[in-house]
Amino acid sequence: MHERERDMTGAAGYSTVTVIPRSAWKAVDVQTRERLHEAADKLIIHHTALWSCWSRTQSIAQLIHIQQAHIHERSFADIGYNFLVDQAGVVYEGRGWGIVGAHAKTHNHTSVGVAFMGNFNDEAPSLQALSSLCALIQHGVAKGYLQPDFVILGHRDVADTQCPGEKLYSSLHTLKTLINHTS
Ligand SMILES: [Zn+2]
Repeated sequence: MHERERDMTGAAGYSTVTVIPRSAWKAVDVQTRERLHEAADKLIIHHTALWSCWSRTQSIAQLIHIQQAHIHERSFADIGYNFLVDQAGVVYEGRGWGIVGAHAKTHNHTSVGVAFMGNFNDEAPSLQALSSLCALIQHGVAKGYLQPDFVILGHRDVADTQCPGEKLYSSLHTLKTLINHTS
């Protein structure tokens, strides 16, 4: 097991995960952050449909790019996703826990949106990325941000879109298996 992960293993037996905070990727500060009224009942999976990210440098460049695009091209208040995960399995804070995102129109107030960084029409998500997301989810349930009986959906399940890409969509069963085996 990775040194950092071992250090971060929670007392309650949950595997936990390090989340790289907004400040570490130089996110633009935003003033308006609407809070979710209750724990989210769904996790909606996206892909960024941009370049593959295996290093911190590639990922941070992409995070900055997405935040700029979401604010200036889509007129969102902030980067739309609650979290993003790269292929090295590093999780980055987008809007974070308990904040309404802008990622799945009619479901933003009842869900957490996580984007895998890359284009998963052709590329498959790494096991590291899936494992990190699994740990993030367990943390979210333990802390009350996600309801224990939450469901995992791909963006395409709730909107007319290809997102999160064929390869990632077909890997969601692996994610569900990981969660069931480690929780
Ligand atoms: Zn999407």
